[in-house]
Amino acid sequence: MSEKLTDIFGMYVFNDSVMKERLPRDTYMKLKEIMDNRGELTIEIANIVADAMKDWAVEKGATHYTHWFQPMTGITAEKHDSFIEPAEDGKVLMEFSGKELIKGEPDASSFPNGGLRETFEARGYTAWDCTSPAFLRENAAGLTLCIPTAFVSYKGEALDKKTPLLRSMQAVSNQALRILRLFGDTETKHVDVSVGVEQEYFIVDRKNYKRREDLIMTGRTLFGAPAPKGQELDDHYFGTLKERIAVYMQDLNRALWKLGIYAKTQHNEVAPAQHELAPIYESANVATDHNQLVMDAMKKEAKRHGLKCLLAEKPFKGVNGSGKHDNWSLVTDKGVNLIKPGSNPDKNPQFLLFLAAILEAVDTYPEILRLSASNPGNDHRLGAQEAPPAIISVFLGDQLEDVVEQIISKGEAKSSLHAEKLLTGVSSLPTINKDATDRNRTSPFAFTGNKFEFRMVGASASVAEANTYLNTMVAEILQKYADELEKSENFDEDVKKVIYRALTEHQRIIFNGNGYSEEWVKEAERRGLPNLRAMVDAIGTLADEKSVKLFEHQGVLSEAEIRSRVEIGYENYAKIINIEAKTMIDMASKLYIPGVARYVKVIADSINSVRTACPAADVSAQEEILLNCSTLLARAQKALDDLKTADAKAISIADKEECAKFFKEDVCARMEALRAPIDELEVLVEKAYWPVPAYSDLMFDI
Ligand code: ADP
Ligand code: MG
Repeated sequence: MSEKLTDIFGMYVFNDSVMKERLPRDTYMKLKEIMDNRGELTIEIANIVADAMKDWAVEKGATHYTHWFQPMTGITAEKHDSFIEPAEDGKVLMEFSGKELIKGEPDASSFPNGGLRETFEARGYTAWDCTSPAFLRENAAGLTLCIPTAFVSYKGEALDKKTPLLRSMQAVSNQALRILRLFGDTETKHVDVSVGVEQEYFIVDRKNYKRREDLIMTGRTLFGAPAPKGQELDDHYFGTLKERIAVYMQDLNRALWKLGIYAKTQHNEVAPAQHELAPIYESANVATDHNQLVMDAMKKEAKRHGLKCLLAEKPFKGVNGSGKHDNWSLVTDKGVNLIKPGSNPDKNPQFLLFLAAILEAVDTYPEILRLSASNPGNDHRLGAQEAPPAIISVFLGDQLEDVVEQIISKGEAKSSLHAEKLLTGVSSLPTINKDATDRNRTSPFAFTGNKFEFRMVGASASVAEANTYLNTMVAEILQKYADELEKSENFDEDVKKVIYRALTEHQRIIFNGNGYSEEWVKEAERRGLPNLRAMVDAIGTLADEKSVKLFEHQGVLSEAEIRSRVEIGYENYAKIINIEAKTMIDMASKLYIPGVARYVKVIADSINSVRTACPAADVSAQEEILLNCSTLLARAQKALDDLKTADAKAISIADKEECAKFFKEDVCARMEALRAPIDELEVLVEKAYWPVPAYSDLMFDI
């Protein structure tokens, strides 16, 4: 490889060093202040930045720019304009003004808005988010300057995922600062949310993918019998990479490094054909943008390598699904991680107060945290193989659980457990210091040493909601504590009381056991923890009185914005299940049923021929196949008709909530009923007559 990592890293990013080099010093300083929420962006500054950005982009070969935004579709959107302006003599100039940098006006009527706008009020604005760096995106046609933006309506209502995220980051920073001031910190000006997103994905061969209409239309298999070998041998997890995958990952890393994304860790995951990529954590907003670029690059590089990247939460029934671990912490502008316990958490009241706030927040608002990880695909993943259930609980680990127990039983903690040395029994191996706590992979929300890891989010989803909701709920509780403690006359004692009260009242949310077990489902019910199994059960909780109060109080979402998001949620769910149902109908009618019918005829013909040739021959095997296949075929045809009827009824329901719920209850059940006989047929019918690649082809043929 000729290019060095250090040479290519960030080459497509208008980053701090480029700005320092290309902007006049005072403009650079002012822009930095604006990025820290400490200054107003004027048109003069925007003009200077736009000009420098354009020169940089054009020197690299870009001809177009786009405002890059994240509408409620969950993916990104862009509209491209070229830099050209007419000049004299029929020539062109390359121009980019401050106005074009800071404001865009996409014709927004076709994006989901959940009733926030009538079609005739199509105006929507994109506004430059200077806290996430502009970058150049490469495709076969060249480079485009992409400007991360927020997307809002004419009235300023959020039509995207970024605006509420930015609001929530501000809210949690403001409240965390108040707490820090109470502990005597006069220096910190800003508290940032750090997020590291581990991304799981599957890779299949493109030639197999192209023969699966379900993968093409919906991203997941809607039919498919289990392969003879699944993940039972655990031989794929952390296994040696296949050559093709290794080359793919290398190119993927390079594409991400050019975009200034710190792609760091890569390995095979639990299921065959499943992999993971983890970048180093960054500010929540940038990490969220970067995760979108990671997903995008994964798909694009796969195509270049004759592969297909599947980001669906459950592409294959019966094997591990893909999620996205959202690692979250609060870090001051001085680099102090507020979620780090230090070696003696019992003597760290500031840490304990933040910990108490997080526990109280998660226990008070578990429904919306659950909602933040809801999409139709995740309904198949949560609670299934190797994924946390839909019940929210927090894993603290031995050390913190011990401290929490001391506080609850004695009012305060006097000691902390310490990590031991790891004894291997082999003198030539190094002595390793163990972590204070083992891991618990079954917990949806786990403390992992200096951060919390929210493991519920689906692989294809944006992490914007998860972080927005988490920031908001933690801000709310911190605000409550700050209100109370700012009035205190004996701070040291009152802090202890607040911690004691929070831990005592919210201890039910702590669970260190096996989250995958049936007993936990029962135990959680006994504790009164909600178990919202499906997305449709969770959507409406956003508009509960409790949630509306929370989001309005923190200035993150208005009631109108909430209602629009609820509507979009139901609508999205219904649309996706409808596409899945229609795809199943299509595949069953045009592929499976005719394919099996042809096979049945071949068997029937062969029975007749054998009988004619040799009347004494035993044809009982052929007859059994014929009988079984015909019976299953008839069942499939009946299930197909039922599904068609249910789907037609579902789409005729006007009320969005009712429609989504009908899809969940009725259409999904009929989809399962159609899948069952066809999956049974797959193991009976001769492979040459089976119309699509099998699970074994998809997962092992790389
Ligand atoms: P794991 O804990 O899953 O073994 P790592 O410790 O490498 O793996 O972290 C997983 C992810 O968490 C990475 O993206 C990493 O950058 C991120 N991470 C590490 N520390 C923090 C932190 N303080 N805040 C947020 N994310 C973090
Ligand atoms: Mg992890």
